[in-house]
Amino acid sequence: MIQIENLHKKFGALEVLRGIDLAVNKGEVLSIIGASGSGKSTLLYCINGLEPISEGRVLVDGVDVHARGTDLNRLRQRLGMVFQQWNSFPHLTVLENVALAPRIVRGLPRAKAEEVARRQLEHVGLGDKLAQYPAALSGGQQQRLAIARALAMEPEYMLFDEATSALDPELVGEVLDTMRMLAAEGMTMICVTHEMGFAREVSDRVAFFHQGRIEEIGRPEEMFGKPRSPKLKRFLAKVL
Ligand code: ADP
Ligand code: MG
Repeated sequence: MIQIENLHKKFGALEVLRGIDLAVNKGEVLSIIGASGSGKSTLLYCINGLEPISEGRVLVDGVDVHARGTDLNRLRQRLGMVFQQWNSFPHLTVLENVALAPRIVRGLPRAKAEEVARRQLEHVGLGDKLAQYPAALSGGQQQRLAIARALAMEPEYMLFDEATSALDPELVGEVLDTMRMLAAEGMTMICVTHEMGFAREVSDRVAFFHQGRIEEIGRPEEMFGKPRSPKLKRFLAKVL
């Protein structure tokens, strides 16, 4: 599981995370919603050690992410991450893009890495695009490629940072469907998202961020059906 205890994060004088306590259990899907600038992305970066923290602890399966001596490369193999925009390697085919990290980071032989890559590409519905170059893919296919690339590391957790925000509206559905499939398969997921429908239907819990704090957290029925926090009510009134 992922355990976050009293997490504070400052950029200079700006305190972006102001005491986050959160535990995400194996198999759970947590959606994080909240206004731009509320610290959602920063939280994900603190979870996989892309950003140092100012105070508190982040434990992934008991491993203290920010402790001196923690092998971050090894840790990140357990945490797949999908960003808003993922720049694939334009000179590599779809298959090569996904096989690269298993080969370089996991040290698999080329044939084995390509077998893993092919399996994950089929999984996200890109089994017929193996020999294409990324430029030939639509935005939705590019994001599914990014998901396949993360899955090829066989992670325990998947972190999504607005994976559909840069997509044309007609391409959002196919990426959400892929995320929904992973959730149904039992993947543990933290999804920063503006897709309230997804948050409501797919998540086990939803956390609403406001100015670096979790203002309210709960089951989606409660969060969307009877929000307690006036700030959450105002947020939902704007986005729904
Ligand atoms: P969200 O993902 O909720 O939109 P972010 O986590 O990206 O919010 O950002 C939270 C705040 O931290 C914002 O005010 C942002 O400008 C600031 N911030 C994010 N990254 C940096 C950085 N590397 N240096 C300085 N300030 C940053
Ligand atoms: Mg963000």
